[in-house]
Amino acid sequence: AQTQGRSQYLFYSPEINARLQERLTLESQLYGALERNEMQVYYQPLINLHTQKVTAVEALVRWKHPTLGLVSPAKFIPIVEANGLITAIGEWVLRTACTQCRAWQLAGLPAIRVSVNLSARQFEQPNLVEVVSQILQETGLPPSYLELEVTESFLMADIQHSVKILNQLRELGIWLALDDFGTGYCSLNYLTRFPVNMLKIDRSFVQDITSNPDSAAVIDAIIALANSLQLKITAEGVETAEQMHYLKRRGCEEGQGFYFSRPVPADIAVEMLENSYQL
Ligand code: C2E
Ligand code: CA
Ligand code: CA
Ligand code: CA
Repeated sequence: AQTQGRSQYLFYSPEINARLQERLTLESQLYGALERNEMQVYYQPLINLHTQKVTAVEALVRWKHPTLGLVSPAKFIPIVEANGLITAIGEWVLRTACTQCRAWQLAGLPAIRVSVNLSARQFEQPNLVEVVSQILQETGLPPSYLELEVTESFLMADIQHSVKILNQLRELGIWLALDDFGTGYCSLNYLTRFPVNMLKIDRSFVQDITSNPDSAAVIDAIIALANSLQLKITAEGVETAEQMHYLKRRGCEEGQGFYFSRPVPADIAVEMLENSYQL
């Protein structure tokens, strides 16, 4: 009886219990969050480092919780990824982002791409290609303005299947980016098999470019790799002028990060777009 009591105590430890409670509460509140219009899409500009113009925006989902305020996707994406709600949320983000990008085009603004993150769960949906194709038709966004971001970690789960789906997506005429590049399996020989157009250097390498020679070396190597495979390259998490100048000197084409702008609502993103083209 004593041992049983002890193991029960461990299982119901107050911290674990509190974290579990928080997660369960958030999870129950996530059901219906879309329908209650609590989800919002923010946009973070991608900047051409040579012209300083906005070339694209990345769509990043936000949850406006009725009492907690904005909840970070880092907190709720894992929950909806686990319970499957991500499929509906991801589709809504995609539709919202495509609609927004098309609206900017119709308003006569400079044409930019919109980039949307795909989750592992969405990538496993048998109708993913149909859903993307349907949303492009419905919103009228020309496919060449949509970019989908995928990560090595979920592509590696079933390489043959991933290659097949990526090829089908490419056939729609959209762009594909490998997100968080450098953090996953270092799958250099698979990289040539994945029909992606762009690598996004993970922000952990960008962060300490100026302080850690190893990070700078990794960045140099990724840029060289991208050039030899004729892939476009974006650096994530650019926070300082030093980082921006380093990347530019090394021939990195695009950058994204707080140095240029945080993710912002659509009306603010469009101001940045206009200003960068001095409209
Ligand atoms: P991610 O795709 O790597 O997105 C970039 C994240 O880095 C964003 O965090 C962005 O706000 C942040 N960031 C950008 N520039 C800087 C910088 O200069 N410094 C720092 N410290 N951070 C920067 P966010 O919006 O909190 O999103 C976190 C992650 O949640 C995303 O990482 C992505 O994996 C996921 N996520 C966000 N929106 C979606 C979505 O619609 N669908 C899916 N499947 N995942 C999403
Ligand atoms: Ca991303
Ligand atoms: Ca990323
Ligand atoms: Ca990520």
